[in-house]
Amino acid sequence: MKIRVDCDESYGRYLVASEDIMTPGTNVLVEQAYSCSSHEENMLDCCFSCQARLFKVVDSCINCGYLFCSTLCKQTHDHSMECALISELKLISSDLMIDFGLVLIVFRICLRFINKPHEELLGPDMVDVQLGLLSTHTRCDLVQSLQTHEEDIDPQVLFLFKKASSLIESTLADRIPNSKISFQTILNIFCVILVNAHGLCASGFSCDSGTGLFPIVSLLSHDCRPNCCFVTICNKIYVRSVAPILKNEKISISYIDLTQPTKIRRRELLSTKYFICECFRCCSETECDVFPRSYPCSHCKVGWVVPIINKTEEVHCSVDNLDFENCDDFNDAFDMFDEIYQNKEPQEVWQCHSCKSIDEDSKGDVIESSIQRLLSENPNVDVIEKLNDNKVSSCHYLLYGCLTRYCSNDSKPKHKRIKYLNEVINILEKILPPFHFEISSRYKQLSLLYDDDEQADAALDAAKRHIQVVYPNGHFENSSKNLL
Ligand SMILES: [Zn+2]
Ligand SMILES: [Zn+2]
Ligand SMILES: [Zn+2]
Ligand SMILES: [Zn+2]
Repeated sequence: MKIRVDCDESYGRYLVASEDIMTPGTNVLVEQAYSCSSHEENMLDCCFSCQARLFKVVDSCINCGYLFCSTLCKQTHDHSMECALISELKLISSDLMIDFGLVLIVFRICLRFINKPHEELLGPDMVDVQLGLLSTHTRCDLVQSLQTHEEDIDPQVLFLFKKASSLIESTLADRIPNSKISFQTILNIFCVILVNAHGLCASGFSCDSGTGLFPIVSLLSHDCRPNCCFVTICNKIYVRSVAPILKNEKISISYIDLTQPTKIRRRELLSTKYFICECFRCCSETECDVFPRSYPCSHCKVGWVVPIINKTEEVHCSVDNLDFENCDDFNDAFDMFDEIYQNKEPQEVWQCHSCKSIDEDSKGDVIESSIQRLLSENPNVDVIEKLNDNKVSSCHYLLYGCLTRYCSNDSKPKHKRIKYLNEVINILEKILPPFHFEISSRYKQLSLLYDDDEQADAALDAAKRHIQVVYPNGHFENSSKNLL
């Protein structure tokens, strides 16, 4: 019993620690996907059921030709009903140019609603979880209670989802009479997948090979300095602590690249998850005393000018007053939607952290856009070094990724790369949770640069310590190879 569900008006449901979880690397939550599927292009490389990478074919379906990692996996998957409709689902996918994997996972969830509506939430694949309020729900209830954000979704995407939903609805009505799955239920599933699903990683793929829906993990909060990381291994997700967590503390993970500056992180969360992050790091003007976005104050000469963020009251992007249905050109609708996002972003004012004088000319915005322009033309740290000449803080540029690119460039002098990597690690250790994998890959890089064996070994040990915390025992050897 490590977590329980809590609920409040502004956050909705979320999970908190029901006891102290002091050791980083603890499995806080392990959940098997309610449903999953590979992306279309990976379907013949992965088991059609559990999404494990196939190194050899063990069993296949004589009807549809898809492959399974074992005969048992094929039997337990209950493949016959979906198999009969695969060609129709493929037509829907190709007609609408939607990934077949997405159509398939939505359809699989429909089948699960039809076949197992009363399935209990707590199954044998849940480890150490006491779900409080949720234990009275069925898994089907829980999936249906996840947020759809239908009103926030890009109208072009929503339009495709609606078309696909109506086609799936009629396929179900023709082939499984009494299925009682409505158009709106199917549309909700599409939206729930878009907003809540996690990427799956089969070994050997450098990026996500598929998608899985994990309804309990979907209740976890986002934080830009989270206390947990997640790893997916086939169709299971492991939520592992990466910092000590105290009783009653909110359990958090991150949905985005945390090495980005606040403005970029918030923009990404707003456009993909439909909320403005107000975590500690996002609301800390100095980003936890790291000053990643700042320039020297010309008034007091000692302070740094940083962006002050005005909190917004209304974070919901309503499109109610826009007439998308009668809009001929969906690109116009999309532009309108973009504009809404722009207006929803909190307005930043730049202010000296020391003397409190306000930068009336938005010099900070000008500096940032010039850095970004320079980087897009020439993504090289030399450019930044020139521009840096005291115009911005020493780590302002770091978070735009160019310094890390420099550090991995073999033609650059070793001593400089070592110096920068140590600088990067120092900053990442302040802004990220103590065992974040970003830190371990920098230690790994560092270990390859040191000529001194002792220093190299120490850096490699640090990298391994970090990786071991994130990857569950037993999966360490396979999974860590990609990172180490
Ligand atoms: Zn399998
Ligand atoms: Zn089949
Ligand atoms: Zn945040
Ligand atoms: Zn000042």
